Amino acid sequence: MALANITAAVNATMRAVLWEGNAYNVTVADVPRPTLINATDAIVKLSRAAICGSDLHIYRGTNPGPPAPWVLGHEGIGYVSEVGEGVGSLSVGDPVIIPFATAEGHLHTDLTTQMYGGYGNGGGMGGTQAEFIRIPFADDGLIPIPATQGGNMTESQANDYVMVSDIFATGWEALDYAGFKAGDTVAIFGAGPVGLMALHAARIRGASRIYSVDYVPERLSIAQEQGATPINFREADPVEQIMALEPNGVTRSIDAVGYEQVNRNLTVQSDVITRNMLAVTSTGGGMGTVGVYNMPASDSEVAPRASTMDDTLELSLASFFFGQFKWQAGPSDPIGLAPELVALVASGVASPGFIVSDVISIEDAPEAYRRFERHEITKAVIAFD
Ligand code: NAD
Ligand code: ZN
Repeated sequence: MALANITAAVNATMRAVLWEGNAYNVTVADVPRPTLINATDAIVKLSRAAICGSDLHIYRGTNPGPPAPWVLGHEGIGYVSEVGEGVGSLSVGDPVIIPFATAEGHLHTDLTTQMYGGYGNGGGMGGTQAEFIRIPFADDGLIPIPATQGGNMTESQANDYVMVSDIFATGWEALDYAGFKAGDTVAIFGAGPVGLMALHAARIRGASRIYSVDYVPERLSIAQEQGATPINFREADPVEQIMALEPNGVTRSIDAVGYEQVNRNLTVQSDVITRNMLAVTSTGGGMGTVGVYNMPASDSEVAPRASTMDDTLELSLASFFFGQFKWQAGPSDPIGLAPELVALVASGVASPGFIVSDVISIEDAPEAYRRFERHEITKAVIAFD
């Protein structure tokens, strides 16, 4: 490459959605385009990126993170645009899914320290809500999208595959965390994107009855269309509503909301759902917590509202003991689940893109964040092409 071209590449910029440390505000700005740093890196040109409920924790100023500013986003698909010399399995032009966290390579570090888009990684990892992103350990850290007929992805295929980068995997794994087996009954708390993905997974995996708990009418309607019994927790205690229909309780319950959940007065109260799950899960049943709990004790430059959260739960250990529950929590593993979930999408058995309500330009991201935060959007996808 001639020197002039190198300088041009180094100075190149791209549009990106930025977190600048101001609650309820994101901006779209020109930032430096990422370049290859290590031989095992690839650069991906985004075609679609989604806005996640996890981005809302940042947006509300309650989520700890690296010093601002940094590029938001950890859900996306695109095409490989550059590969380092050490990348063996990918070529320029390959369509790929970007899972929300990097492969660890040989670093053996904690998965959660390596998420894109500002989650606990020093901000240096980049985010998907931008035209380009650098992917470390690209051979293991990108999920190839199978060839589509005619070579080009349709809008609905693109929406399906972008869900595999995070929330379809998260909804799927929530069931595993709860010990789900075909024929089980399931109560899913939250009919946001993650709860609706858990519902989609529960249908595919043969749940006998599914209850979807929320208070947003539009989201409960989608859950009902997808085969769940809607439970509106503003109308009556959700535990009473579920127990009236399932006197022995449900065998599995899922938290698809996380620490910014609200009580019946719509005030944030972070222990409501765990209490509800303990009350509706049958003896010997299981609970899966994929809603995020990530609240630091005090406010900081990047989490200016952190201290409004309380992370304690009062629990009867005796009832927990005799409940004989399985209970698992944590981030999901889109890389590990990819072979199974990509095959389900490619064969048409799964179509998680059904939840996409808004396909937008990156310039409209600030407004999409505002509306998603108020639950006026079910799932927004930024289209770059
Ligand atoms: P979202 O904010 O759009 O949806 C949350 C839904 O929960 C809303 O519809 C809200 O009305 C509802 N809700 C609030 N309080 C409730 C209550 N007490 N009972 C029932 N429903 C209640 O977000 P989302 O995109 O669906 O994400 C949900 C959670 O999943 C977030 O915490 C997000 O960070 C987390 N998440 C975790 C992983 C993971 O790997 N574990 C991955 C992606 C997202
Ligand atoms: Zn996400």
